[in-house]
Amino acid sequence: MSTESEAFSMYIDGEFVEAKSKQISESTCPGDQKIIGRFPKGDGADVDRAVQAARQAFDATDWSHVRNSIERGRYLQKIAERLREDLDRFSELESLDSGKTITETQLIDVHMAADTFEYFGNMATQLYGDVLPVPADVLDFTLREPLGVCGAIAAWNFPIMFAAWKMAPALAAGNCCVYKPAELTSLSSLALGKIFAELGLPPGVVNIVTGPGRSVGQAIAEHGQIEKVSFTGSTEVGRKIMNAAASNLKKTTLELGGKSPNIVFADADLDRAVSGAMTAIFYNGGQCCIAGSRLLLHEDIYDRFLEQLVERTRKITLGHPLNWEARMGPMITPQHQKQVLAFIEWGKQNGLKLLTGGGIPKDPELSEGNYIEPTIFAADSNDSKLCQEEIFGPVLTVLKFKDEAEAVTMANDTPYGLASAVWTQDIKRGLRMAKSIKAGQVWINHYMIVSPFGPHGGFKESGYGKDLSKYCLEEYTQIKNVYVDLSDDEFLCLYD
Ligand code: NAD
Repeated sequence: MSTESEAFSMYIDGEFVEAKSKQISESTCPGDQKIIGRFPKGDGADVDRAVQAARQAFDATDWSHVRNSIERGRYLQKIAERLREDLDRFSELESLDSGKTITETQLIDVHMAADTFEYFGNMATQLYGDVLPVPADVLDFTLREPLGVCGAIAAWNFPIMFAAWKMAPALAAGNCCVYKPAELTSLSSLALGKIFAELGLPPGVVNIVTGPGRSVGQAIAEHGQIEKVSFTGSTEVGRKIMNAAASNLKKTTLELGGKSPNIVFADADLDRAVSGAMTAIFYNGGQCCIAGSRLLLHEDIYDRFLEQLVERTRKITLGHPLNWEARMGPMITPQHQKQVLAFIEWGKQNGLKLLTGGGIPKDPELSEGNYIEPTIFAADSNDSKLCQEEIFGPVLTVLKFKDEAEAVTMANDTPYGLASAVWTQDIKRGLRMAKSIKAGQVWINHYMIVSPFGPHGGFKESGYGKDLSKYCLEEYTQIKNVYVDLSDDEFLCLYD
């Protein structure tokens, strides 16, 4: 497949359009800086056009009607099928645009996106209200209704997955949506627009607007005719979204940053836990909100565990996103590479012990890309900047703990609360830990698994609300209470 100079368009009101301003942006491959595609650089005017189209589809067509939930579900299932048929194209495009290895995009990301459309396709008919237990001469029931127009703004690190995570539940529940992918990785979402058009999704039901956060994102967050905004990105921008959304009291879902603890007890299956620790921090080069960037090891296994971990980490093959041998790709941009290197430099200068990695790889074949060696530091205290701040790169900091209580204190000692894991053969201890950790996700004897069934979302400054699962679907609805008086009694009036 050649994506070189391939031109992509926004998808608004069922049509492929350029930006009203006619401006365009280019997407480059983080593995070699080659330009792989061009796409419209939209702004507030394009958002407004998309919102008008979505409003019209919601207010003036029967898309949102309950009786059409079967049809909505069918559309979503067909999108899933088409994604699977186009697996090669989507995974290549995604790897070139985001720098994720082809192994990740082909084996995981595109499938996860397809599974998400299919899951919510199946859920479309499963949204019910309740009949309430009131006296016999009253009928009181609830209706679960769609919200209207839902906006969504996504981060760059899992582009096709986020497109599915945001659009599928909104549509399943009967909403119409305006979706903004990150400007660094817009191509796979725009390619999705072609599937929507081919399947004949009614015009305006889904609209994809590309462009910068400060114009397109801001316009979505503050638009008066959007009822909800679902945001995935940094905690810093999440605060701005919350402020902008206050203008018309939009509902908000904020999926933000993390500094997740991965805790290994002495009785854990060490081989599995080492594999888990590597997946936790090096998957997508550590550019994961749920990265297990703090590894907490029990003092009895600290040395043994690190020996294995460091040895296996040194063998990780870095490579171009399309190289099937590569297990880790580049950072998304040269600027991001610089920021991650600055964290590493801070660690070196401030007394953390560098165990492996710590710089740009020497392999000349990687010189054009934004690569960073998988890096591990040992730290004495959780107060260190490397334990408190999200790095968003392949940089792991290891801490030692002596007992369960200390592990819990360390685990909870950051502003974040997104994900966590506990490795132990003692299920009672695993469950005690699961209850004590303040995070939206706890894995026991696993790391990183995410499925459409499980709610994904954080506690504390990692945000609130959920992506995926029935809980997320419910967040795309509002409850109406309908009270019906069936009695023949006189109306009890206080004013006669
Ligand atoms: P970011 O906050 O810089 O950008 C996210 C999105 O917001 C982009 O589409 C961007 O264009 C847009 N945006 C930027 N400024 C905006 C503004 N003022 N108003 C409206 N929109 C604006 O984040 P990023 O660099 O793309 O992604 C990395 C961050 O995302 C990390 O902190 C990571 O932890 C977080 N993240 C969280 C999750 C999660 O599910 N919790 C998942 C992935 C990434």
